[in-house]
Amino acid sequence: MKAVIITIGDEILLGQILDTNSRFMARELTKLGAETVEMRSVADERNAIVRAINDATLRADVILLTGGLGPTKDDLTKKVLAEYFDCPLVKNEQVYHWLEKMFADIPSRMNRYNVSQALLPEKCTPLHNLKGTASGMWFEEKNKVLVSLPGVPFEMEYLMHYEVLPRLKKKFTNLLLRYKMITVFDVPESEIALKLADFEEQLPEGMGLAYLPSEGYVRLRLTAKGSAVEQLEKQYEQLLTALHELPYQPSSEGDSREDLMRRLKNAGVSVSCAESCTGGNIAHMITSLPGASAYFMGGVVAYSNEVKKNVLGVNAQDLEKYGAVSEPVARQMAEGARRVFHTQYAVSTTGIAGPDGGTKEKPVGTIWMAVAGPNGTIAEKMLISHTRERNIGRGSVHAVQLLLAQIEQDKKA
Ligand code: ATP
Repeated sequence: MKAVIITIGDEILLGQILDTNSRFMARELTKLGAETVEMRSVADERNAIVRAINDATLRADVILLTGGLGPTKDDLTKKVLAEYFDCPLVKNEQVYHWLEKMFADIPSRMNRYNVSQALLPEKCTPLHNLKGTASGMWFEEKNKVLVSLPGVPFEMEYLMHYEVLPRLKKKFTNLLLRYKMITVFDVPESEIALKLADFEEQLPEGMGLAYLPSEGYVRLRLTAKGSAVEQLEKQYEQLLTALHELPYQPSSEGDSREDLMRRLKNAGVSVSCAESCTGGNIAHMITSLPGASAYFMGGVVAYSNEVKKNVLGVNAQDLEKYGAVSEPVARQMAEGARRVFHTQYAVSTTGIAGPDGGTKEKPVGTIWMAVAGPNGTIAEKMLISHTRERNIGRGSVHAVQLLLAQIEQDKKA
């Protein structure tokens, strides 16, 4: 089943809001096994909406629209759909009773705009919106489905979950598209591609491998369509075998950084950090996951030598002798954080993020990182790139990986 998503709203085109509805809907459709072939955002304007629907009908079985259903927009989408399906807007008694119920406590607030929300194109099946006043609408014609949902994200999400997805499942019984995700850390995309050349070569018809690079990792998505779905598990096992020498983790569909943080959370140990070149990015990554307070005690952004010395207890002579970007300093920073925050583990970074500050011996992108734990301290040097954002992003991800590797190794020992 192929789908097109159309979001309606001047706010999107003006750059005032981010179109998160499309992402949500595409993700849900993918989970269902459907294939979203296009996403499009159009203005609150009749011709733009009609043009988008006409185009979509050429390439999709299902068209999902959001936006333009509220009482304040003169019900533009509803009017356009009534015209498109060549039917009048009629008062829907069920929807009207629902509106009466919603305004039962404050009847004076039910004005003519709200009343107009009970007017729906005659050919639609209303989708009952328990989260708001604008109903969703389901149209079916010539084996194609068009669904119109409110733009407000939580109303759209409610209707997708409880009304749209169950109906799509029932109507398109042979939805076949499945995928599995894997994240490979710290290996350039081209190197992974070289390793997987033979694997990709032998992939059967209907299967594909996509590379989704981010700072510090590349996500791989193995997708199977149609009858190839039966071979997904077998091919996935082969993919794991082909990757066996590389640092990889099976991952969820979401951000791989989140997967890393979840592993840290599940490790069940207390952690802290001391960051120089990553400037608090590690602490930010860790605290982005709800519940981080259970295991993350705190962090120090030790940007200056003074803070490295005075807060973390880094030896002044070592700083002088080896420089701030050095193994002894990285080690002492991690040990200092562990001491200051009373944690089982601490991770540190000290490096040259760039674009300036590099030397021949220590070029931009040189990062020393260390992990201090109950069994001692380990340190590692990385040379990343000349781009500041990449150095901070990849450096942070790698430092957390180093931390996790040490925790997991200590647990095994
Ligand atoms: P209402 O008129 O009741 O607000 P509506 O169905 O007419 O609902 P819009 O007016 O298009 O929807 O959008 C309402 C609000 O929902 C917007 O101000 C915006 O905050 C949010 N919204 C709309 N479309 C999207 C979208 N594609 N992605 C994320 N948020 C959206």
